[in-house]
Amino acid sequence: MENQYEVNLQSILKDVSKKGWLINLYMLVFQYFSTIYLTLLNPYSSAYIQMIKILWIPLQIIYIMVVWSLFKCFVSDPGRVPKHWQMFFGQQGRNRYCLLCHNYKPDRCNHCFECKRCVLNMDHHSFWIKNCVGYYNSKFYLLFWFYINLSATFSLIVVSLQIYPKIMNLFYRDDKQEIQNQSNLPTLLLLLYLFVIAVLTLKSLIVRIKLAITNQTIISQLDQRGQQDGQRFQYDIRYKFNQSFIVKENWFQVMGTNPWLWPFPIYGQSGRPKGDGINWQRNQN
Ligand SMILES: [Zn+2]
Ligand SMILES: [Zn+2]
Repeated sequence: MENQYEVNLQSILKDVSKKGWLINLYMLVFQYFSTIYLTLLNPYSSAYIQMIKILWIPLQIIYIMVVWSLFKCFVSDPGRVPKHWQMFFGQQGRNRYCLLCHNYKPDRCNHCFECKRCVLNMDHHSFWIKNCVGYYNSKFYLLFWFYINLSATFSLIVVSLQIYPKIMNLFYRDDKQEIQNQSNLPTLLLLLYLFVIAVLTLKSLIVRIKLAITNQTIISQLDQRGQQDGQRFQYDIRYKFNQSFIVKENWFQVMGTNPWLWPFPIYGQSGRPKGDGINWQRNQN
């Protein structure tokens, strides 16, 4: 009976996680419209309304960046294995063959059972974006977490400003201003929600940045748990060039080589990730 319950729970959780992309969209729409509604259309106090109106402009830009990054995550190809790649790239990967795709797999390439194909430098399959994270879209995925975190933090600031005089009023009871606790409740609940989202997305963003600067993926981290640093960080080429503090060589492989394009979920000709997704430098042989 208990096993049956566990199996049911597991299948429900799996179904819910598959709808992660939809939950993601709902949360984003809710976060945006509740921030706009509770601050501009339904202002409780006028003390900070001018400042809120000024902040409203960067707020729009940040939300446009979230939607743009998310869109690129949804539609981008994480990286296919080129046909006959070994003719051009030598013999590496000879011992790694995918029985489902019938191709040899380059270094760091793995088969995704959700996408039903092999993905270059596969990081993981993310249900938040209904796509794999791989060589060609790791940048978009990192930017998505960056902008979603920024949007939650910025919304938190804007909503806090709006309710700030009311909160102060609770502590320093000013008889001239009537406190309407009931009407403050939606704003307080939104503040709590935004705070939770800001903390959770910051955690994911830190994970993405750490992976980028150490040239690791979620899969490589799981594969190499418990191994020596030399093996775990074999693609972390900071060590190769004895540049412990220079992270750019790893960073370039995710974010591209053009710093002007780092904030945007595009590559352009000059901003493609460094390398080819097939040949990977190692810090030791
Ligand atoms: Zn495959
Ligand atoms: Zn996948």
